[in-house]
Amino acid sequence: MYLNNETIFFLNGEFVKAKESTIDLYSQTLHYGYGAFEGIRSYETKTGTKIFKAKEHYERLKKSCELVKIPFDYNIQELVEATYLLLDKNNLKNAYIRPLVYCGPNMSLSKPTSVSVMIAAWDWGAYLGDKLLRLTISSYCRPHPRSIHIEAKVCGHYVNSILATNQAKDDGFDEALLLDSDGFLAEGPGANLFFEKNGKLFTPQLGNILPGITRTTVLEIAKKLGMEVHQGKFTKEDLFQADSAFYCGTAAEIVGIFSVDNYQFPKNWTNSLGKKIQDTYSLLVREPLK
Ligand code: PMP
Repeated sequence: MYLNNETIFFLNGEFVKAKESTIDLYSQTLHYGYGAFEGIRSYETKTGTKIFKAKEHYERLKKSCELVKIPFDYNIQELVEATYLLLDKNNLKNAYIRPLVYCGPNMSLSKPTSVSVMIAAWDWGAYLGDKLLRLTISSYCRPHPRSIHIEAKVCGHYVNSILATNQAKDDGFDEALLLDSDGFLAEGPGANLFFEKNGKLFTPQLGNILPGITRTTVLEIAKKLGMEVHQGKFTKEDLFQADSAFYCGTAAEIVGIFSVDNYQFPKNWTNSLGKKIQDTYSLLVREPLK
């Protein structure tokens, strides 16, 4: 699914055969989740393959590393250029791109002995599919921001996302919705939340969530379309009175939500603000940005 005999990785400044690449089993990232990654998408556009907000993603990768003190000695523009080359070498247009900064062998909890960057890419459709999601509020909350750097996309944080996703699926739902450690609405395991009420949009404020690049794009689109958006602390009771809702993220793009536990959103998705944003986003990522 991810690779074949011809697949090429970018690894520490070189293009290497994926099948011949290895990782040290004493990697600090493998044992302790001490690494950082990104999820980026490229789209086929009229003027060629376009990586959506590539610079923003690599800047977040740099920030994630800085926050958890993993040395990041890479030039962002060079990483962007390397990613375009990587797509070309792998003959990819509509792709998911996964950069990972990982640490070398070190079985202690001290600073990394060495750091590597790898970039993989593979063909990718919509993450959660096009159907509306049935969510459940997870019994797992997002990690407390004083325990970790929640705004960093760090490997180890994703155990929380995996637990919540698996719990939701085992209980017959499509996806989880996590609250923060104070009980306010936070985000999905891999996506940010928006909901609509009385013609306005609402989304959890930054602080207990990953600052999604798609979330920022949604805010930009909403502004352009003249929609009012409020960022704040919201409760699940607010959500249970909302007209419609959606998740947004690089992989999922914009995906409508059908229900959260027993609450079904009353507004038809096709008439929602989310649908307008979904359509605009879909065009934006497939057209060259001005
Ligand atoms: N929250 C979490 C926990 C995520 O993993 C992601 C995916 N990176 C998002 C939100 C959405 O972020 P983005 O729009 O940058 O993909």
